[in-house]
Amino acid sequence: MNKPLETGATIGILGGGQLGRMLSVAASRLGFKCHIFEPGANPPAGDVAAHVTRANYEDLEALTAFAQEVDVITYEFENIPTEALDHLEKLRPIRPNRRALQVSQDRITEKDFLSELGLKTAPYAAVQTLDELNAALETIGTPSILKTRRFGYDGKGQARLKSNDDAPSALEDMAGAPSVLEGFIDFTHEVSVIGARSADGQVSCFDPGENVHRDGILYTTTVPARLTASQRMDAVLLTANILNALDYVGVMGVELFVTPQGLIVNEIAPRVHNSGHWTQEGCVIDQFEQHIRAVAGWPLGDGTRHADVEMLNLIGNDVEQIPTIAVEGNAAIHLYGKAEVKAGRKMGHVNRVVTKKS
Ligand code: AMP
Repeated sequence: MNKPLETGATIGILGGGQLGRMLSVAASRLGFKCHIFEPGANPPAGDVAAHVTRANYEDLEALTAFAQEVDVITYEFENIPTEALDHLEKLRPIRPNRRALQVSQDRITEKDFLSELGLKTAPYAAVQTLDELNAALETIGTPSILKTRRFGYDGKGQARLKSNDDAPSALEDMAGAPSVLEGFIDFTHEVSVIGARSADGQVSCFDPGENVHRDGILYTTTVPARLTASQRMDAVLLTANILNALDYVGVMGVELFVTPQGLIVNEIAPRVHNSGHWTQEGCVIDQFEQHIRAVAGWPLGDGTRHADVEMLNLIGNDVEQIPTIAVEGNAAIHLYGKAEVKAGRKMGHVNRVVTKKS
């Protein structure tokens, strides 16, 4: 696919959650249609996309039919089964590419890749057995965190070790899954950069946002983040470095720990990212449009920040605050249309905007 997509073209999105929903809205503004592939019932993206295929990732016939109806395939989550990707890539271009997925699906592959680029990560070691964990503890020590190599999100699949005595129970929490022991980083705060790269190699990064988590789930992102000028520059340059190294096309989220010794990369997400939702009200071109532009072969837009923003995630019962928030000035509400409220479920978010006076 070398030519930019034209009006009426269809973008296939693997995954129908809120990210797929907001990508579909952005795509429709540019004149595209979206086709969602999602195994679950009533996907949030289904309300706004032109087409939805409800099928499992093992259903090769459904994957073929889906691919034949779209011009390019992108995704809103990184844990897509390899066999489905092998099948799809024979039929249509997948953006961002397979390498980005391969690197980010496994925490060890990811950290190896980042280290090879010369970027700092937490000290880490692959472990699966108690002997391996005890050996890793000898070099990494405590406090440390044991995480599953794959399928972890929102702090799930993690156990903290305060002392070596915690090793057996931490390992039990991993339920036999291949894991990684990470040294605990004594960070002052967490930030993330949302970066984008176009098909012809143009790179653009949004201003870093400062993230606060609650119960392992992102709670707020505030821009501007507390960073010195050189840290801000470093954050953006290292993100560009990652994007270029992967020959990446699309938007990526890069999570960073801020320490007195510099920035440490926690993880990368090869997709639009919850910590980039502030861009919807903080920039002329938000992360969703930027991603659609990139996968459609368009030039990137100008993502310069024009306002200070606090993004607040509405998790579970937080959504009950909507009537109060709805009468606030400068609070942009984004709800995902999820019928059932569950603890820990992301129901929507609010961007509170402080407009800059010129
Ligand atoms: P993750 O799923 O890797 O993004 O981890 C979720 C959260 O746990 C991070 O946002 C941090 O707040 C915390 N965390 C993860 N890894 C480390 C680490 N090596 N040192 C300190 N805190 C960590």
